[in-house]
Amino acid sequence: MAQIINGKEVSASVKAAVAAETAQLREEKGLKVGLAVVIVGDNPASRVYVNNKKKACEEVGFQSFEYALDENTTEEQLRDLVDVLNRDSRVNGILVQLPLPKHINETAIINAISPEKDVDAFHPSNVGKIMIGEYSFLPCTPAGVMELIASTGVEIAGKSCVVIGRSNIVGKPMAMLLLHKSGTVTICHSKTQNLKEICLGADILVAAVGKPNFVTGDMVKEGAVVLDVGINRLENGKLCGDVEFESAEKKASYITPVPGGVGPMTISMLMKNTLTAAKQQAGLI
Ligand code: NDP
Repeated sequence: MAQIINGKEVSASVKAAVAAETAQLREEKGLKVGLAVVIVGDNPASRVYVNNKKKACEEVGFQSFEYALDENTTEEQLRDLVDVLNRDSRVNGILVQLPLPKHINETAIINAISPEKDVDAFHPSNVGKIMIGEYSFLPCTPAGVMELIASTGVEIAGKSCVVIGRSNIVGKPMAMLLLHKSGTVTICHSKTQNLKEICLGADILVAAVGKPNFVTGDMVKEGAVVLDVGINRLENGKLCGDVEFESAEKKASYITPVPGGVGPMTISMLMKNTLTAAKQQAGLI
C-alpha cells in the first residue's frame, strides 16, 4: 500500500516559508510584495481560482490587486491594463487568469507581460530560460510536483520518469524540470504507442492528461512514485484525478490524492515566484 503524499501539508510549509521571508523583508528593508490578478469575464472556475489566489496573498502577507474586467473588454483595453501594471512599482507579479474570452488573443497578452513580472512563467523568455536551466520563475504546477517528489526523499537522478501529457503549462515544463534533476525522461501524448508498457517502466510517473481515472493500477510499476496532476469534475460534482487511485495505490510506493495533492501546490509556488520577483526587482538577488 502506497504512502499518501499530503499536498496540503507540503503547500502549507512552502507558504509558511514565503510568509516568514516576506515579513522579514518588510521589517528589515521596508519592502512590500504585491501581486496583481486580472480576470476577464465570469467563468465560475476562474473566479474560484482567483479567490484562492487572493486568499493565499493574505496568508503570506502580500498586497493583492484584483482587476475584474467585463466579458466584453477588448484586447487593446487588456493590453493597456497590462502596460499600466508593468510600470506599477507596487506590483511585483502579474497574473492574467486563463482562459480569456475567445475574442482576446491569449498569446499576445502573455507576451505583453513584462518577463520580470511573469510569475506564471508563461512568457516565451521565461519558457526559454526553463529550457536552458537558468530560470528564476518555476512554472507553478510542475514546480509543485517537484516539491512533492522532494518531500518523499526519493532521488530523481538516474530514475526512469514518464510524463503523460505535453501541454505548454504542465507536460513540457514538467519533463524539463525532471531532466534538470537528471531523470531519464519519456514524454507521452495522444499518439504514443504502447503507453501501458512505457508507464510500467516508470519509477516516477506524472499524469497530466485531463481524463478521469486514465492511469490504472495495471499501468503502474511496483514501488513507483505516482503524481496526479489531473483535475476532472465528474457528473456527480466530485473532483477526480487522471489516476485511478484505488488500483494505483496498491502498486505505488508514494501517490498523490485528488483533491489534496498537486492542486494546493500550484498556488503556493505562485506565491514563491512572486516573492522571488519582488527580491529581483529590489536588486536583492
Ligand atoms: P491539455 O489538455 O492541454 O493536455 C493534455 C495532454 O494529454 C495532451 O498533451 C494530450 O496529448 C495528452 N493526452 C490526451 N489523451 C491522451 C491519451 N489517450 N494518451 C496519452 N496522452 C493523452 O491539459 P493540461 O496539461 O492543461 O492539463 C492536464 C490536466 O491537469 C487537466 O486535468 C487539468 O485540469 C489539470 N491541471 C491541474 C493543475 C493543478 O493545479 N493541479 C494546473 C493545470 C492543469 P496531445 O498533445 O497529443 O493532444
